[in-house]
Amino acid sequence: MTRVWVAGAETLLGRALRDRLRCEPRLTVIEDEPNLTHREQVEEFVAEHRPEQVYLAGGLSGGIEMNRSRPAELMLDNLLVLAHVVEACYQYGVQKLLYLASSCSYPREAAQPLRVESLMTGPLEPTNAAYATAKLAGWQLCRAYRQQYGAAFVTAIPANAFGPGDDFGPTSGHVIPALLARFHRAKQKAEPSVTIWGSGTPRREFIYAADVADACLFLMRHYDDEEPINIGGSTSWSIAEVAQILAEVVGYSGELCFDRSKPDGMPLKMLDSSPLRELGWQPKADFRSALTETYRWFLQHQVKEDPGHDGPSVSLAVSDSPHRGRDRRCLSQ
Ligand code: GDP
Repeated sequence: MTRVWVAGAETLLGRALRDRLRCEPRLTVIEDEPNLTHREQVEEFVAEHRPEQVYLAGGLSGGIEMNRSRPAELMLDNLLVLAHVVEACYQYGVQKLLYLASSCSYPREAAQPLRVESLMTGPLEPTNAAYATAKLAGWQLCRAYRQQYGAAFVTAIPANAFGPGDDFGPTSGHVIPALLARFHRAKQKAEPSVTIWGSGTPRREFIYAADVADACLFLMRHYDDEEPINIGGSTSWSIAEVAQILAEVVGYSGELCFDRSKPDGMPLKMLDSSPLRELGWQPKADFRSALTETYRWFLQHQVKEDPGHDGPSVSLAVSDSPHRGRDRRCLSQ
């Protein structure tokens, strides 16, 4: 049995990773979690539990508005978390660590689809430069430990992820959870229109968190290099298209209005995931079904706290599983 720790198990991807790892027969998942911003706590935790494999998914993150309004918090939190976890993992002989960086670390004007060779070749998108810099530092730290100490620390860069356990906050969340919640509330209150931030023209590549988790397990087994590797599929959607699909998933039929006073962020973010495909992995989730599953989770968990929620009368527009042919018991733990 290999002892595995997900550092940051309360994050979207950390949660998906834990769920996925629990399905693996030869792994013991360490369920505890120290405060990752406290060096001593992290060190004591790693000394006590002695993980052999670590997935580093921790650190504060958020959507375009949170990046704009809280850059210092985002940057500091991520720097502290990665420094503490990477150092403790090295000190206590962790065999392999996989660090999850972010697609916003690519230069704003990098050629699309984004290849890892473009990292650190140009200025970052200003709306998320602080967070992106911390994520780049994480990659560089893993690389430095590999160079100086021979540590098997690798970095992966997922596309914009979404799924159960996401942050559905109206200002803190990324576009998918924020709009799911906004459409839901608009439907409940029979509002005639919903506001979408920006022009609707930026394009993003989205990936279901369960697929990212699956890719991470694959990489833990099959990837060991100082260059990061992208985790994505091969499709991008405009924000306007995504908003339309989300309205359908929620069953909202009002008008969609675009507020051009809000920032668009990067015009296009599309990863080149051909290296991962060549290794033998590709995402499995169907986009619409994964959105439906995410909305289902929102209804079951978040809406309980909302006094205006109309409970069981809310029905889902689509009902099939995002992972056709896979073991749903594991996915829904
Ligand atoms: P980004 O990939 O770092 O830009 O992350 P986001 O998910 O926060 O934003 C993606 C795009 O969706 C941007 O162009 C936003 O302006 C747009 N967007 C539209 N409505 C919303 C919203 O309600 N929340 C967020 N976060 N983004 C929105």
